[in-house]
Amino acid sequence: MKTYLIKKLLQKDGWKNELYITVDENNLITELSNEKPEGEFFPMDGYLIPGFKNAHSHAFQYAMGGLNESIPESAEGDDFWSWRENMYSLALSISPDELQEIATNLYMEMRRHGYTHVAEFHYLHHDTEGLPYKNPAEMSERLMVAANQAGLALTLVPIFYQMGGFNLEPNERQRRFISKDVDSYLELYEEIKKSAEKFNNVIVGAGVHSLRAVKNEDIIKLFKKLPSGIPKHIHISEQIMEVRDCVSHLGKRPVEWLCENVKLNEEFHLVHSTHINDEELKMIIDAKANVVLCPSTEANLGDGLFPLKDFHLAGGNYSIGTDSHIGLSPMEELRWMEYGVRLIEKKRNPLCKPGENSADLIFHKTQEAGLMAMGRSANDYFEVGNNFGGLLIQTDNPLFKDKPEEAILSTLIYSAGPEHLKYR
Ligand SMILES: [Zn+2]
Repeated sequence: MKTYLIKKLLQKDGWKNELYITVDENNLITELSNEKPEGEFFPMDGYLIPGFKNAHSHAFQYAMGGLNESIPESAEGDDFWSWRENMYSLALSISPDELQEIATNLYMEMRRHGYTHVAEFHYLHHDTEGLPYKNPAEMSERLMVAANQAGLALTLVPIFYQMGGFNLEPNERQRRFISKDVDSYLELYEEIKKSAEKFNNVIVGAGVHSLRAVKNEDIIKLFKKLPSGIPKHIHISEQIMEVRDCVSHLGKRPVEWLCENVKLNEEFHLVHSTHINDEELKMIIDAKANVVLCPSTEANLGDGLFPLKDFHLAGGNYSIGTDSHIGLSPMEELRWMEYGVRLIEKKRNPLCKPGENSADLIFHKTQEAGLMAMGRSANDYFEVGNNFGGLLIQTDNPLFKDKPEEAILSTLIYSAGPEHLKYR
């Protein structure tokens, strides 16, 4: 047992002063108290905040960073779909050892930048021929080992991927991703759950790649069969062409179709949701579902901008993710998420009502929805029974020195980098 005196600690309802936190030998919090303990305690200077939650990752894509920022002479242009071809080439080449190595490096970098928990949207399930490995959860287990080695909590979200597009057979280049039907996906999901029992930092969620990648009747069937109490993730409305294809095949826009056919709730995390209309925005909020925004990847891929101002002001819930990992700083994701709104609105602090601080708003919004995307409670900041992990903001740095408490998060999000954070 060890007791710390935390001078400033960020909880869901704001900053707390002079709190004593006792942890056991496994670093789990056993007590939070304002009372000075009888025995020895260790003062901790600075501002302690919960670690950032990364709600969307494809670990293998970290190997692509910087390799696709030019247009081949034979091509006319570059967009999400041409980038996807390069991503498929990479996906076809990666061995389990390589995946583990890439993910270990990536997760260590995530941790250095301030993330403490990541949701891995994982569809690279099979061998290079498209056949299951001897251990069907081989690739998932490699990600679990990587997270364990990096000291990062992991929510593994095995993904159901079945088709090459609306009414299209899977193409050869997608062969490592494919489960032929709901039952074969559920068998894989059960294997992955068994593997996760070997690790103490892994939660298992579930998900569907996108409306275009799974038959619509199987999406309905799967979400009916999955247990409640686990996070459920899906890519949706990232590209305008995907929205058009959905309308022509299903007669509805993607979010419209999903909300009308699947009983969404707060366990659902709709990744991107870039191209939604006002009705779809309201449908997401009415269902209490969450959106995952990945600003650096969405910018890099030229996806477009999510209508964050309307969604935020209507009470929508959203988290952040690093997706392709072209950017890895949570501060940068939050900054650009909010700057996108400023650039459209030509105004400062456009998400705020009078009296509000934009950094406080977006930190807590993305922390709470981020926790839910991990399969944890939105209240899970520093609580008894939790791992006492957090980020200590270094107040001896000139950037933070003598700043008032109410400017700490805005200094962090708008002006600071990982060099200002320390893991405790
Ligand atoms: Zn993604």
